[in-house]
Amino acid sequence: MESLLNTIRTKVANRERVTRTEAAWLFEEASEETLKELATMSRRRFHSADDTATYLIMAIVNYTNVCVAKCDYCSFYRLPHQAGTYLLDFDQVCAKIDALRQFGGTLVSFNGGFHPKLHLRDYAELFSRVRSRYGRDLEFFEMTVAEFMFSCKLSRVTYDEGASLLKASGTRWVTGGGAEILDDGFRARHSPGKYKVADYFKAQEAILRAGMGSTATQVIGFDETLDERLNHLEALRAFQDNAPRKLPSFLCWTYKPWNNELGGTELSPGEYLRWLAVCRVFLDNIPHIRTSVLTQNEKALEGLRYGADDFDLPTEDEVTQKAGATITHDFERILSAARAEGFTVQYRDPFPL
Ligand code: SF4
Repeated sequence: MESLLNTIRTKVANRERVTRTEAAWLFEEASEETLKELATMSRRRFHSADDTATYLIMAIVNYTNVCVAKCDYCSFYRLPHQAGTYLLDFDQVCAKIDALRQFGGTLVSFNGGFHPKLHLRDYAELFSRVRSRYGRDLEFFEMTVAEFMFSCKLSRVTYDEGASLLKASGTRWVTGGGAEILDDGFRARHSPGKYKVADYFKAQEAILRAGMGSTATQVIGFDETLDERLNHLEALRAFQDNAPRKLPSFLCWTYKPWNNELGGTELSPGEYLRWLAVCRVFLDNIPHIRTSVLTQNEKALEGLRYGADDFDLPTEDEVTQKAGATITHDFERILSAARAEGFTVQYRDPFPL
């Protein structure tokens, strides 16, 4: 055991890549102190100051809850014929954005469902109207890769054509959301109608090739195996090696098991922190590792000691709130938790991250 740890420590110190076997060992066997030490060493590859973290205030605007993907872990969606569906109009979207601005927020992330009547041109029109109303005061993640994929299919355009259309209408960023666990076995168990992993990366590559930015994400705590989690990280690291434009950040958050078909038990904060450290060490080609205040509240700030360097202060996200997440608008409380970990916090510009 000691020799494996020494091998990993030497690799991290020399900025060499660790294997998935080494990552699995770290997760299962390493002490908390070792994880923090190695994650902090890995963080230093990209961030010289060990004691500084960045953040911003943002809102996830859920423009519709209509979705036909039927993921069993989702507490948010409604099928088109069900009661309680909604599709926000322009004024309702703007009201949510105005609420964010009252909080001093600077980033809006649009996230809805696989709406069977929303074509890509509808998104492009909405985003373009929103941008002209708010100018450069705000930045936007316009859709997730998963929504982009569905909308391209519905609109009968290729991913390259869809990405060109969005880019031409002014879109700058499409978040890498909707990734959950990028493993086809996991996808077949829980969301067979959403996408296959190779297709996800094909769509994200088209987005990057068109000149827009994107991000990497992962959600843990369903019933995924360690192998499935590692498959996700391995595929992501390989994608980033060859990506036409690099993904600046990786955000891992945790599944909330309430009000959905899958249910289950919530992952412990301790497991989240251990995994965060493994992600920082393993993902040696992604500069920013972000910790999730949305799903871990103050506990997320301990993640700064486990390799994370950045976090959001979200003002709303119906998707995770429906599943049991609690959002506080007492931002000072969250920032104090970061300071208590020994970090100076700096508000950052949304892009480039
Ligand atoms: S997770 Fe997203 S794609 Fe899946 S059912 Fe929910 S809204 Fe639809």
